[in-house]
Amino acid sequence: MSAPKSLESVFIDVRIAEPAASDVELAKTLEEVCPVSIFKATDSGSEIVSGQLDECVLCNLCIEAAPDGAVTIVKKYEQ
Ligand code: SF4
Repeated sequence: MSAPKSLESVFIDVRIAEPAASDVELAKTLEEVCPVSIFKATDSGSEIVSGQLDECVLCNLCIEAAPDGAVTIVKKYEQ
């Protein structure tokens, strides 16, 4: 078994569907609500900070802040 790449998450993946991913205002909100800095607001929307993914505490604040179904938290260990 090979070691995971440093920027690749082992346990959690976070996905943002379009058009929410390109929503600059939503990007700022997501950056603000996530306690472990998984979202980064940019001029073109949200970026996922891969190195932080496994810090996700499953608080669902991002899901509640985004339009229905826009943000998905994937628990890789359940797959
Ligand atoms: S569930 Fe919580 S910790 Fe995980 S990405 Fe969303 S806001 Fe961040």
